[in-house]
Amino acid sequence: MKCAMCGIHACRNELEDAPKNCPSLDKDMIDNIKELYKTEENYTIAKISTKLAPLQGRTRIEETMDFAKQCGYKKIGLAFCNALVNEAKIIDKVFTYNGFETESIICKVGAISRETVGLEHSSNNMCNPIVQAELLNKAKTDLNVVIGLCVGHDSLFIKYSEAPVTVLAVKDKVLAHNPLAAIYMADKYYKDKLFPPKN
Ligand code: SF4
Repeated sequence: MKCAMCGIHACRNELEDAPKNCPSLDKDMIDNIKELYKTEENYTIAKISTKLAPLQGRTRIEETMDFAKQCGYKKIGLAFCNALVNEAKIIDKVFTYNGFETESIICKVGAISRETVGLEHSSNNMCNPIVQAELLNKAKTDLNVVIGLCVGHDSLFIKYSEAPVTVLAVKDKVLAHNPLAAIYMADKYYKDKLFPPKN
């Protein structure tokens, strides 16, 4: 599957011109998946997000609140990185001001020794994204919002979150949490980093 390399993108409209290896041509698989949209949660999430997708002029946080409101979510879980405590405080205030109940859990909650996963000891204990998820599961949040969790910690958080997850911010330690900046400069300033010369 190489959608990223496809120059046709027939899936946007009609499939007549689709390339031979186009996964959209697997009608049986797609018909089976269609069934999943009939469950209440999937139906609501898909309907509201599809309705909001074409709208312009809303920031990500505004869109997140629009999405949550229209889905009927009242309790929002904020799973944030300890490097973004100031941002998390503001985000918590924004959600609360706009009528949501919030639960916020820092990544260092229940921090455990790095030796747990075979790394050398350090006074800086390992984050515990599974506890982060479990605490929000216990709080029965309707929607969890990721705020700058580290790569991989976010994977574990998403894996263990019972509520649907959306990402408000991704961490990028160099690019002010804007990883696409490196992509926009991939053929110039970041070329050597992203495409290091091979021996
Ligand atoms: S789904 Fe098919 S048409 Fe769409 S990008 Fe992938 S290969 Fe191209």
